Amino acid sequence: MATPSESQDKKAEKLVVIYVPAVTISHLISSVDLGELLAAHSLEVSIVVCGRTDDTAAGSFADGLAAAHPQLSFHLLPYVTRPRDVPAHDYVVQTFELARASNSDLREFLRAASPSPAALVLDFFCGSAVDVGAELGIPSYFFFTSSISGLAELLYHPLIHEQTSISLRHLGGELLHVPGIAPIAVDDLPAAYQDRDSLGNRLFLALSEQMCNSHGLVVNSFRSLEPRATDAIVAGLCTPPGRRTPPPHCIGPVIKSLEEVGANGHECLAWLDAQPEASVVFLCFGSMGRFSAEQTRHVARGLEMSGQRFLWVVRRPPGGEEDDGQKPDAGLAALLPEGFLARTKGKGLVVEAWAPQREVLAHGAVGGFVTHCGWNSVLEAIMGGVPMLAWPMYAEQRMNKVFLVEDLRLAVPLEGYKEIVKDEEVAAKVKWLMESDGGRELRERTRAAMREAKEALSDGGESSTALLELVRLWKM
Ligand code: UDP
Repeated sequence: MATPSESQDKKAEKLVVIYVPAVTISHLISSVDLGELLAAHSLEVSIVVCGRTDDTAAGSFADGLAAAHPQLSFHLLPYVTRPRDVPAHDYVVQTFELARASNSDLREFLRAASPSPAALVLDFFCGSAVDVGAELGIPSYFFFTSSISGLAELLYHPLIHEQTSISLRHLGGELLHVPGIAPIAVDDLPAAYQDRDSLGNRLFLALSEQMCNSHGLVVNSFRSLEPRATDAIVAGLCTPPGRRTPPPHCIGPVIKSLEEVGANGHECLAWLDAQPEASVVFLCFGSMGRFSAEQTRHVARGLEMSGQRFLWVVRRPPGGEEDDGQKPDAGLAALLPEGFLARTKGKGLVVEAWAPQREVLAHGAVGGFVTHCGWNSVLEAIMGGVPMLAWPMYAEQRMNKVFLVEDLRLAVPLEGYKEIVKDEEVAAKVKWLMESDGGRELRERTRAAMREAKEALSDGGESSTALLELVRLWKM
C-alpha cells in the first residue's frame, strides 16, 4: 500500500503505459487508435513494436506509421529473424513466434523504462510477454482486437480441447456450444483451432491461459453489442475450472470517430461525392484478402448483373496465377471480364489494392458493404451505419460471420464462401441488400447499432465509463 506522500508523487508524474501491438497491418492501425485514446486520458503511451522482420510489408508499415504519428511515442525493437521450423505460409504461428523472439529486447526496454510503466498492454499475438511483465512486476493486460464473442470462445477453447480426443476438423459440420455465443460449426472455427496437435492450436491454448494470468482483458467492442458473451465471461462461464477470469474492459469501438475522419484526397472519395445517397455497395476484403482469378471474375459478373453502383477494391490473385495466363504485370483490365471496365464506367469504380476504407464507410453515398468480416471492418461498418454481406476469408473471420449473422443480426452471408461465391449469388445478394425490404431492415438494425456505439462512447456511456475505470485502476 502506498503512503500518502508516495501517492501524491505518483499523481504528479505522468503515468506510462506500454502497448505492444502485433506486426500485422490491421493491428498496427489499431495501435494508433488505442494510443491516441489512452493519450487523451493523460497517460504517456509508448507503442513498442515487437517481432519486425526486414522482409515484410507490415514491418515497413510500422516504420511509416511511426513517422506519420510523431505525437505518439513509437519504439521499434530490433529486427528478429524468422523461425526456421515454421512454414512461411503459416502466418498465425509466424506472428506468435516473431513476437516471442522479441521478448528479450522487450525485457531490456521495460527494465530501462523510467518511471516504471503502470501497465503493459499486450496484443494477443504477444501473449508470451505476460511472463516478462510478471518477472518485472509490471501488471499485464491484453488488448483484444477482435470481438467479445471471439474472446469467449478463446477462453473456453481449452475446455473443448479436453472434451475431445481427436482433431475438431474430424468432427465434420458438428456444432460446438460455448457459453454466451451462438453454436459454431467446427469448420467455421479458425483453422489453427481445428488441428488438435498443431503448433497454432497449442499457441492458442497457451494464450487462453496467459490471458487468465493477466490483470485484465481490454476488448475492442462494446457490451450492448455483445451482451450475452460479455455476461458469460464476467460470470466465469467461459473459463476452465481452476483458472480465474480477469475482468473484461469493453472500451470499443476503438476507431476514429466519423467526425475525426477527414477526406484524404483519394480518387474514390471524389467519385463517391458524385453518387446519390446510400446508393453504392462497397467491396473490400481486409489488408490481406485476395481472390483467385476465377473468383474475381465471378464477382465482376455478379456486380454487373446486380445493376447496382459499386466501389470495389481488387487485388491481384495470389502467386500471379501463371496457370491463368496472367502476366504478373498485366493490368487490372486483364484480370476482369472483357469490356467490364468500359461497360460499368460511371456506375462502378474499381480501385487496385487499397482504398481509405474508414472514410469510404463514413461517406453518405455508401449503402452496403461486402466484407471479409475482419473485426476492424465490422466496427467501421457499424460506426458508418452500413449494412453488411458477410464473406469470411481467413483468421477468425468465419467465426465473426457466425456472430454477425446469428447473434448480432447485422449481416447476411454469401453462402458460397467455403468454396466459390458464384456470380448469381453475388448479383442476388447485392440487389437484395440495396433494394429489398429485407435489406432496408438490415440497414435499420445497423443504424440502431451505430447509435448504440455512439452512445457507448459518449460521456457516461458504457465504453467511456469502462475506459475511465481502467485508467483509474492504473493510476491507483
Ligand atoms: N483497410 C483499408 N483499406 C483497404 C483494406 C483495409 O483502409 O483497402 C483497413 C480497414 O479500414 C481496417 C483494416 O485495414 O481498419 C483491416 O482490418 P480488419 O480487422 O478488418 O481485417 P484484417 O486486415 O486484419 O484481415
